[in-house]
Amino acid sequence: MDATRAQTFLMIPGPTPVPDDILQECSKQLIGHRSEDFSLCIEQVLEDLKWLGESKEAPMLFTASGTGAMEASVSNVINKGDKVLSLVCGSFGERFAKVAEAFGAQVERLRVPNGEVIDPDAVAEKMKGQTFKVVTVTHNETSTGVINDLEKIAAVVKENGALILVDAVTSFGACRLPIDQWKLDMVFTGSQKALMLPPGLSLLYVSDEAWKAYENCTTPRFYFDLGKYRKFQAEKTTPFTPAVSLVRALQKSLAMMKGEGKDQIFARHIYLRDLLRREAKALGFGLFVKEEWASPSVTALVPPDGITVPEIRKELKQKYGIVVANAQEDLKDKVFRVGHMGYMFEREIGMTLFALKQIVAQKSSNKQVQALK
Ligand SMILES: *Cc1c(COP(=O)(O)O)cnc(C)c1O
Repeated sequence: MDATRAQTFLMIPGPTPVPDDILQECSKQLIGHRSEDFSLCIEQVLEDLKWLGESKEAPMLFTASGTGAMEASVSNVINKGDKVLSLVCGSFGERFAKVAEAFGAQVERLRVPNGEVIDPDAVAEKMKGQTFKVVTVTHNETSTGVINDLEKIAAVVKENGALILVDAVTSFGACRLPIDQWKLDMVFTGSQKALMLPPGLSLLYVSDEAWKAYENCTTPRFYFDLGKYRKFQAEKTTPFTPAVSLVRALQKSLAMMKGEGKDQIFARHIYLRDLLRREAKALGFGLFVKEEWASPSVTALVPPDGITVPEIRKELKQKYGIVVANAQEDLKDKVFRVGHMGYMFEREIGMTLFALKQIVAQKSSNKQVQALK
């Protein structure tokens, strides 16, 4: 086993592995962002993103990580003092609440313990008799590995007359997300998760109702002013210099996704999730999340007795070149997270499971030797 090999294998929930064809696309000489070629590229990307998000409108493209799009969603519809309900089931839900607070919103949190999901009935209860302008929700909570029932939550939010802003960073492209059908007002993702690209690009879908809120929004903003993006998008271009290489790479990754087919992609994610959960459990790992809430894109595992998260991560990295993520905050060193979204197949899950199996076996044989001494 060679600890010094150059290539590490990313089994973290972003950035995710990038297919070779896409890496090659990224390394090509630049083209001008006002050129006709680039406009054609944008046109195709926008069409394909309508297909992937099942939306009649294309999203706005930003040169920013996912959090940039999160900030754009907030700063374009929320005014200082607006009442916002933030549904928080982990760190990313909390981040969304904090961004809303940073723009002066009066934020109330509906929080559930780590590893649990938001109950749509609790949302209904919370919204009863109150006038929230906006509800923020994390579709797939990457910090704990749960997926919320967004369809039900959105139905409750819309019944209560609020806008629903959705962090879909680790669900978009990994599971079905019919934006129009579920009446989602703003939905964003980043390039480095299920879209199989390097980091640096994010996208934000905006509903008609969100555009109405935009017209009445006085929050100071410049770079992320959605009106500018809408105006330039109509001309198949962007207001500022975009990440040209990433947009061209996105055209390529969307073509790959169309080639595989949406249903096939989503089924593959479920298959890999179930495979990982089943086999990790058989190796003695604990599953941090109940089956019905388990995320299609990231799985949190609890190590068997006698081996710690830092030991597992170190061995995986040094002996196998495989990187998994620690958990954050309270869960740090208690659980670790395996990302399995985007360019992921049975082979990757198999490699990771084999390495985990070896590490656990090695550790317990070391212990037996110790006990004999
Ligand atoms: C990765 C991620 C983000 C975005 O993080 P960036 O580092 O800004 O790209 C936001 N929400 C969730 C749920 C994520 O997994």
